Amino acid sequence: MAEQYLYQRNLHKNCDFNMWFAFPAPKSFALSSLGYLWLFRELDMREDVNIEMVFSDSKTTEIMRNKIDLIAFSISFDMDFIEVLNFLDKNNYAYKASERSETDPLIFAGGPVISSNPAPYSEIFDFMIIGDGEGVNEKVVSVCIENKAKPKKEILKMLSEIEGVYVPEINVKVKKKTAKLAGCIYTPIISDMAYFKDTFIIEVVRGCANRCAFCLASYLNLPIRFPDYEQIINTIELGLKHTNKIALLGAQVTAHPRFKDIINFVHTKIKNGANIEMGISSLRVDSFTPDIVQALVDAGQKNLTLAIEAGSERLRKIINKNLSEEQIFKAIDVAKQCGLKGIKFYGMLGLPTETMEDVEEIVKLAGKIKKLHKGFDISFGFSTFVPKPNTPFQWFGREEEKSLEKKSNYIKKELHKIGVKSTVSSSKWDYWQAVLSRGDEKLSDFMIEVHKNGSKLGAFKKASKNLGINTDYYALENYSYDKELPWDFIEITPGKEFLEKESRRLLEI
Ligand code: SF4
Repeated sequence: MAEQYLYQRNLHKNCDFNMWFAFPAPKSFALSSLGYLWLFRELDMREDVNIEMVFSDSKTTEIMRNKIDLIAFSISFDMDFIEVLNFLDKNNYAYKASERSETDPLIFAGGPVISSNPAPYSEIFDFMIIGDGEGVNEKVVSVCIENKAKPKKEILKMLSEIEGVYVPEINVKVKKKTAKLAGCIYTPIISDMAYFKDTFIIEVVRGCANRCAFCLASYLNLPIRFPDYEQIINTIELGLKHTNKIALLGAQVTAHPRFKDIINFVHTKIKNGANIEMGISSLRVDSFTPDIVQALVDAGQKNLTLAIEAGSERLRKIINKNLSEEQIFKAIDVAKQCGLKGIKFYGMLGLPTETMEDVEEIVKLAGKIKKLHKGFDISFGFSTFVPKPNTPFQWFGREEEKSLEKKSNYIKKELHKIGVKSTVSSSKWDYWQAVLSRGDEKLSDFMIEVHKNGSKLGAFKKASKNLGINTDYYALENYSYDKELPWDFIEITPGKEFLEKESRRLLEI
């Protein structure tokens, strides 16, 4: 069986409002995207809307194009715009909202990229959702259904009054929507075609209270929120009726006040003979305790990941990641004791103030681990720093390409010498990510030009040349604290004043 829906679907609704819910990536990824699936469920359960999921690899659709009244996009990554524009092309819609006709559907988007900085998309979408989509999407759809016959302008005016909705033509300010968690959200569809095959994903925590200075997942989701223990347990029970694979999701799952009890609940079932596989996104070092790690190992977890972010304690302090080398070594002891064969470490290159000495520290650390723990498999995955809006590092540009390449080559070579595998993300692609991340309204034209030139790496350079855009300004420049930023119009907690204070505090460490 391909797909199990965990709710009662009505496929024969008596309604005349039709919607595509688009995911700018292949179906397998969509079927593993908790937020996307949950928001789809919310709308699919309504009797007054026919809604269909559409993916980048969809060949056809059940609802015909000429019947569509509304299109929503869920955008998680900066580069998702490539598939959004492919979709508009494929379905014969103009790229810009202002160029689409009155008979075309309204097209909107939400997700973390949009919520942190909607400015680059302001000409493409008719409106956007800033913050949590739960509840807001419902209100949006209600307004669109009730006013279907009215001109777009009037509908947009009404939408602009909903908290969390940003209509570029109308709103000068918008308040980010922070949902109160009404319960525990989970993947309402379990599928063997999903990237995480047949896996029931449960949100245990929303956000992360650690506030690492580069981290959007933390700053965009403050304050950290949790469903109740009982709600989580009931949800796990529901999932186990349909599959034996469960995954606990959250930027910092271990922050749940009853995380140990949740783990123990599943572990007890396993000890009593249940065949359950349980995975979690990543463990914080202070949660590498024998009981937690043992439960995960017994639940089939073969490897664990540990985000150390930076090699030296100095730099880890500056990014607000207070993690000592002693804690890293303790975590390895626990991992070995529980029968794990290895750990994967995550880090970042090119963080503000990073020097070559900080990078060398990573190699030294790896060398020490190899020496003390022979036969224990360690590997490293690195990405390069991309400044994110609404974080204390939003003012810092990236390091120049050449020095990043030098660091990247150095680390790969030196780790290889001591038998440690490593990967580093492409600094060229990360550069373009940074351009979009700190982009302004001018970048709608830029994205369209990239699309017209084929959306490969070379197309980005060509587009900036054709349009005369200085992309280093977005990706590399350090901005002054008093500079007005393209996303300043979003009202978000903790706000710019706090971010500046935090940024200054960290740099003084
Ligand atoms: S611990 Fe991880 S999720 Fe939390 S703020 Fe740091 S990087 Fe972000």
